[in-house]
Amino acid sequence: MAGIYIHIPFCKKACHYCDFHFSTSLTYKNELIQQLLMEIELRKEYLKGDVVDTIYFGGGTPSLLSKGELIAILDKIHNTFRVHDTIECTLEANPDDLSSDALIALNDAGINRLSIGIQSFFDEDLQYMNRSHDAAQAARCIDAARDAGIENVSIDLIFGYPLLSDDKWKQNIDTALTYEVPHLSCYAMTVEPKTALASFIKSKKTLPINHEQSASQFEYLMKALQAKGYEHYEISNYALSGKRAVHNSNYWKGIPYLGIGPSAHSFDGVSRQWNVANNMTYIKSLGEGIVPFEQEVLTETQQLNERIMTSLRTMEGFDMAYHKNKCSMEDAFAFDKTVQHFIQEGLLVAENDVIKLTQQGKLFADYVAGELFV
Ligand code: SF4
Repeated sequence: MAGIYIHIPFCKKACHYCDFHFSTSLTYKNELIQQLLMEIELRKEYLKGDVVDTIYFGGGTPSLLSKGELIAILDKIHNTFRVHDTIECTLEANPDDLSSDALIALNDAGINRLSIGIQSFFDEDLQYMNRSHDAAQAARCIDAARDAGIENVSIDLIFGYPLLSDDKWKQNIDTALTYEVPHLSCYAMTVEPKTALASFIKSKKTLPINHEQSASQFEYLMKALQAKGYEHYEISNYALSGKRAVHNSNYWKGIPYLGIGPSAHSFDGVSRQWNVANNMTYIKSLGEGIVPFEQEVLTETQQLNERIMTSLRTMEGFDMAYHKNKCSMEDAFAFDKTVQHFIQEGLLVAENDVIKLTQQGKLFADYVAGELFV
């Protein structure tokens, strides 16, 4: 089993909070797609014959691709790798790209799951974020996706920014729930260095993030979605039964994946690779038949710490027996002591040698995991 991630590094506008790799100039889109196809060819041995069961178009904004471009990439994958008969094929999309015709084209091309970047159903909030869509487009696109035959829809929402009152956050969740989408991804706004948001906060053009407000909105979200039958299966992800994102779940299980495109990451079980995050350097290098990447072989300790971090973020939790097998008596003793401390603090629970975050613990997930690292 393996996954393939394709990074499409173009966006219509730069969202103020975003630090992903993308360009707002589409001038070299054709050249870049040709080199994506070249990279797929050059990396055909990476998955060592594993069967591909998920493909994920991320970015950037993959909904900027035409039907022909999508089909060319998918055909190349099918002709290069062993691909399962039934695959989850996800595309991240922005609401303003999802006209009825565009959705029919996506369905025809083989996309069977959409991850739609709604973020908010309020115009003023979308403008604050500098999103390319408006509230009306956000409200329309979910039903339009179903009408076009794509039932498996996930929507993204953002909370924890100063403009978002608790009342507006409740309305966003209520609106999302009226669509009965099978999956939601909800993220707290973070201020990444070198983003427009960071500079606006520094120059006092906008208020900083209020972390208490963000935490209380996260708590409300967890309760509201669990009350409607959604599994909180990963810290930022909620799904109705049987509707978890397979591609993302496989990341958290440590299953290998191949990342294609500028800035895309790959993992083969032992080492990580990441491609250059520059469109022109990527195009030029692939033009010379070279994939421009850096690589890191993970030590046993790094692998263990990654497993602690990713497992704790999931509802399945972290298996302590795995830890005992992988580290010294001394480290195991220190680990047990820290676990007991967090259990007493109400941030962790232990069941059958598996530790899981409590609702309270989910507010401090990164801190708890960091304290448990070897
Ligand atoms: S559309 Fe997505 S990738 Fe593009 S700038 Fe906005 S958040 Fe970033």
